[in-house]
Amino acid sequence: MAWSQNRIITIVFISTLFSAIFIAPVTEARADTVATPGRVGVGSAAMKTDVWISAEADRLSGRKLNLVCAASAQEWAERLTEVGFRGAAGEYYGFSLVHRDEMHLSPYVCEGLRFGTSAPVRRSHEFQVAWSMNVLIHESVHLARRSADEKLAEACARTALPGALHRLYRVEYNSAQMRRMISASAWFRRTMPPAYRGGTCSAPGAWNSA
Ligand SMILES: [Zn+2]
Repeated sequence: MAWSQNRIITIVFISTLFSAIFIAPVTEARADTVATPGRVGVGSAAMKTDVWISAEADRLSGRKLNLVCAASAQEWAERLTEVGFRGAAGEYYGFSLVHRDEMHLSPYVCEGLRFGTSAPVRRSHEFQVAWSMNVLIHESVHLARRSADEKLAEACARTALPGALHRLYRVEYNSAQMRRMISASAWFRRTMPPAYRGGTCSAPGAWNSA
């Protein structure tokens, strides 16, 4: 069907750049001119972010974050432009402004996280749900560790993914669905650039326990 074909094209297209960590002196300087720096760049979009997604990001990162789900492809493109990312918006799933405890997620990722909450919807969108959760963990690792290390972030996402799927969506560890979702993420991971692959999730140990 057209829908699934679109998804495949999108996935192949965007897999060249998985996500990015961003520490931007330019945008930071601009933020400093505003009275409420904690909300700069977030604005009304923050109101659209599901509370439970934000709470999960806080839990995973161990910080109180400003989390923003882009509401549309256009908004996502604007957000990326604001912080200086080049290229097609669809190439990016998420980015973090570490110095501001701020996480931005693409519409695809936020949609995937929401899909996970309904068993029948999750069943028909396992790939998107699994990868979206992977992205949420990946960005949380950047924020938790204050690290731009993509290998580390991805290795820790891989390690924590089963536990997060189990805790949030009650996917049983020893289930066919869990195996399919882990497999889907592993497949996606192999399409990523070398900078994201081959890492290990080192201490602190919170990321080693599912
Ligand atoms: Zn990253």
